[in-house]
Amino acid sequence: MLTQIAEDVFVHESEFIKSNSIVVRGREGVLLVDPGITRADMTDLAGDLRRAGHTVVAGYSTHPDWDHVLWHEAFGTAPRYGTSDNAAAMRELLTDGEWMSQVAEALPPEYADEIPLDLFGLITGLPYGSTELPWDGPRVRILEHRAHARGHAALLIEQARVLVAGDMLSDILMPFLDLEAADPAGDYLAALDLFDGIADDVDVAVPGHGTVGGAGAVRARIALDRAYVEALRDGVAIDDPRVGPSAPLEWLPDVHDWQARRFAEKAAAQRP
Ligand SMILES: [Zn+2]
Repeated sequence: MLTQIAEDVFVHESEFIKSNSIVVRGREGVLLVDPGITRADMTDLAGDLRRAGHTVVAGYSTHPDWDHVLWHEAFGTAPRYGTSDNAAAMRELLTDGEWMSQVAEALPPEYADEIPLDLFGLITGLPYGSTELPWDGPRVRILEHRAHARGHAALLIEQARVLVAGDMLSDILMPFLDLEAADPAGDYLAALDLFDGIADDVDVAVPGHGTVGGAGAVRARIALDRAYVEALRDGVAIDDPRVGPSAPLEWLPDVHDWQARRFAEKAAAQRP
């Protein structure tokens, strides 16, 4: 089901960790961002679009993680854009003859059979440093940064004042840092600063997973994510409802413990 969240902007939620797909109405068709997880999600969304008379004229992947680079033939053959780093990460993966079994192993077992991999990761990289999405519709600004994953980018749909945050600013998931990066906490805080700098231009924030945040939620979510990352960086106790005793996802506190341990190990290894 498509839910309108602003002028020309709609969201479709998938069951798997409340994944959000975003549809932006343009002049000749729609832009589809992070289009869903299972075959059923995507055919449902494609049906909604067809009934509303919309064709997909452009896709966008916020970052090169499996749950953001899927596609279904029912969406057609529009280019699926991403940052140049996103596309490069996918190209590197797809040139490995074993990629499909590698990806399949990482899928959540309860959904694995329902996730189509035939059009996986076919991302068209935008020129390095692109700041605007090339399409015939409302202006969409690209905010690239290094938090969470290489090639991660948020989108600001300017007129509608919607921030598509990718895997950040979630009310159900704590920040997942890119622990392979040289400075995971610094990268994450820099990305939050970037969001802070445009917060006055945003009324609605759509996380990759979780609830759409309305006015006021943007700054509150930036503050919550910042507090988490700073506590991780400083090695102090984390007071965060997403990983506390009443965490909305009961498995998440364990993942948080794992992340905190790995972060501390990496920091210790980097100390001179
Ligand atoms: Zn995700």
